[in-house]
Amino acid sequence: MRARAQRAIQECRRIAAFTEEPGRITRRFLTPPMHDVHALLTERMQALGMNTRVDAIGNLRGLWQPPCAGKKRLLLGSHLDTVPDAGAFDGVLGVTLALEWVELAQELKLPLPIEVIAFSEEEGVRYATPFLGSRAVTGTFDKSTLAYEDADGVRMDDAIRQFGLNPEKINEAILHEDLLGFIELHIEQGPVLEAEDLQLAIVEGIVGQTRLGFRFNGQANHAGTTPMHLRRDALAAAAEWISAVEAIAKKEEGLVATVGKIDLRPNAGNVIPGQVELSLDVRHMSNRQRSHWVRHFIHEAQIAAHKRGVAVEWVQKLDQQAVDLDRFMCNLLQISLEAAAFPVKRMTSGAGHDAMVMAARTPTAMLFLRSPGGISHHPDETVREEDVEAALLVGRKFLEQFAADVS
Ligand SMILES: [Zn+2]
Repeated sequence: MRARAQRAIQECRRIAAFTEEPGRITRRFLTPPMHDVHALLTERMQALGMNTRVDAIGNLRGLWQPPCAGKKRLLLGSHLDTVPDAGAFDGVLGVTLALEWVELAQELKLPLPIEVIAFSEEEGVRYATPFLGSRAVTGTFDKSTLAYEDADGVRMDDAIRQFGLNPEKINEAILHEDLLGFIELHIEQGPVLEAEDLQLAIVEGIVGQTRLGFRFNGQANHAGTTPMHLRRDALAAAAEWISAVEAIAKKEEGLVATVGKIDLRPNAGNVIPGQVELSLDVRHMSNRQRSHWVRHFIHEAQIAAHKRGVAVEWVQKLDQQAVDLDRFMCNLLQISLEAAAFPVKRMTSGAGHDAMVMAARTPTAMLFLRSPGGISHHPDETVREEDVEAALLVGRKFLEQFAADVS
């Protein structure tokens, strides 16, 4: 198994060389290096006896159809696109590992058809809208996005044509077949597994998130002539609110809240800040809890503003519901972890994944691999050989169990 793990890692490193920017890994949706990735993976799929195709949104798909097996298939996969200046493993490892799982299924002679989907787009970098690949596959692709333009003014439908595909055929990407379920293998992209000295975790849910924009309106004025008690300092109000948000979220299990962006006017050293615009990102596995805390944070902003005679307004920019992953699939992963003698850890994902889109179409679960240093979306992103090997040992148990359960 160690040799397989090394191969899965090696393939990620080879794919990392296919990039838009020499010296950095940047591979956006349907950009030229994606052709090279497809060529490498297609060759590998065909060597495994899989039928391959690229659908109209640019997902590379390989089907392993064992002789004398039915048509119902298990889906495996993850995404091939990256953020700018990315690491080599986010998404890609879920594809190279899926191909190792296919080979394991073949060696075990399991009568289990498996389709591996290497999604063309998950990160939302090129067209500021994520999950294009999985949305096309699940029939939830919004065709109005075809008119979106990237930073160079290239419309999405033109980008699809330039890649050699036909945007009129996006419906042909939809999975109409009977499906048995979907498993996404993915690096954790966070520090939890490393902190708990664990290699793998079952992901049983993906948190919902709310994003808001806040604006504190005070009064810009002279920093020397305006006494402290006569000021309406928008930044001082915002700063108090930021600290309150952090303190509240720290005390609440399962809640994360982040003020990540700030824009200050006039932003001069000798002027009292008159206006501050900030972002707030709130995530929780419970939709009810998330709504509750969002209301609470708004209330805290009003308190902080009121103290200083500052006005505050806000706008909600995103309200994405949490997604529970499938209990049967999660339990089967748990049985597989136990059978392979690994400790069982269940957790939620704080980041979005294709699995959250797929979950609406078929029973879905994810398996996380430890992220050394908790680092991701960064060139230092890496993965340990023994953790990849662990995902293969669990995969073998899972495939055996799954094939037995569905036959
Ligand atoms: Zn990812």
